[in-house]
Amino acid sequence: MRTAVVVGAGIGGLATAGALARSGWQVTLLERGDRLRADRTALMLWPNGVRALHALGLGAGLAAIATPLPDAGVRRPDGHWLVQPRKAAERAGAERAVVVHREDLHDALVAGLGDRVDIRTGVAVRTLRSAAGERPAVDDGRQTFEADLVVAADGIDSTLRRRLAPEASVVSSGCAAWRAVIPWYRAPDLPADRPVGGEVLGAGYRFVAASLGERGSSGGSTRGGIYWIATAAGAPRPESPATQLTLLRRWFDGWPAPVGQLLAATDPDDLVQQEVRELRPLPKAYAFPVGTGGFVLLGDAAHGMPHHLGQGACLAFEDAATLASVLRAALPGPGARAALATYQRLRHTRTVTVVRQTRRMSAVLRTRGRLALRARDAALGTISPRLIGRAAAAASGWQPPE
Ligand SMILES: Cc1cc2nc3c(=O)[nH]c(=O)nc-3n(C[C@H](O)[C@H](O)[C@H](O)COP(=O)(O)OP(=O)(O)OC[C@H]3O[C@@H](n4cnc5c(N)ncnc54)[C@H](O)[C@@H]3O)c2cc1C
Repeated sequence: MRTAVVVGAGIGGLATAGALARSGWQVTLLERGDRLRADRTALMLWPNGVRALHALGLGAGLAAIATPLPDAGVRRPDGHWLVQPRKAAERAGAERAVVVHREDLHDALVAGLGDRVDIRTGVAVRTLRSAAGERPAVDDGRQTFEADLVVAADGIDSTLRRRLAPEASVVSSGCAAWRAVIPWYRAPDLPADRPVGGEVLGAGYRFVAASLGERGSSGGSTRGGIYWIATAAGAPRPESPATQLTLLRRWFDGWPAPVGQLLAATDPDDLVQQEVRELRPLPKAYAFPVGTGGFVLLGDAAHGMPHHLGQGACLAFEDAATLASVLRAALPGPGARAALATYQRLRHTRTVTVVRQTRRMSAVLRTRGRLALRARDAALGTISPRLIGRAAAAASGWQPPE
């Protein structure tokens, strides 16, 4: 029996554990938290992320929880279009990005584990053992977990990556993000003729919104509603959520509708603030063949990046689909080690490209100060539409391996 230990039950770890189990691996999933849980926000999934979920066999579950994103374009705070919404004829046949509530996605991924994954919560992995001729192993100080394959899906602060790829450091991306889902029953009345959603990009600030539909409005669940995410250059704010909300309302005052209405309808309890961080440099390798298989880095543990292109989770799903595909027929030993080398080849160049695109967006977002602002406003009028369009197309163009 082929055995795998997956460390971390975030989006990447859950998708990988389920995929490996479905292709016949005996999987142990280790999570440091006392239970499996998701946060109360949402995620945009671009066509590559949707394709990866289909490749993982989770397409049907996704269809039940996803709301298509309208093609609402990108505006400046003065209402000027940076990227016009595409006309209906241009959109016809194009794959759509979707938005999902993270709790819904989490439930679908947990359902995808089936009953073949041994889930251990309250296990915080601290060390690993990697020696030629021995099976890889991890340890939480109480117990050792040994397997043919160890998947480090333990997030951007990955303990395992610190040992496997110490050259990669976690650094601040120079901005903070605030997210909220306004439950449907508290959502503001918005004009019916305009889709809820789209993006507004200003100097040092960005606001994106999307409708999650009305699901749950009759069942007391908060999973329908409107999701928004605001990004601002600078550090996270130490003040209370109520004061943070006041600041957000001030920063985004006068921005095109529905920015003001959405901030007005948000409760401090809805708000989730986060420092935006990334790995710099990225690890030189994502796969470390050893013994009967080896270690792999996956998701944010491998390529934690700013959220500006909404690609972190999409890439984690691509990682999981690729890993499951290359390992499908691999046996412990040379076969599994060769499969990990293929994972490295398929995933490293791909993720480096997306991270590079994301960093360009970061640079656009961080520009502040009067002189820089003028230069940036000029640049926004010319560079950004191309940059945004090209970056999104490059990121979304991935196809799963055969
Ligand atoms: C503001 C913001 C908005 C975003 N929006 C989008 C978006 O719209 N679309 C998109 O695709 N991506 C988006 N992302 C990125 C996305 O959220 C991440 O890329 C994704 O959640 C990473 O998943 P992961 O499983 O790799 O890591 P995590 O979600 O960090 O999961 C890691 C798991 O490992 C566990 N763990 C950690 N250490 C240990 C240990 N030592 N032992 C055992 N368990 C451990 C943790 O408890 C956690 O459960 C966004 C990110 C941010 C910050």
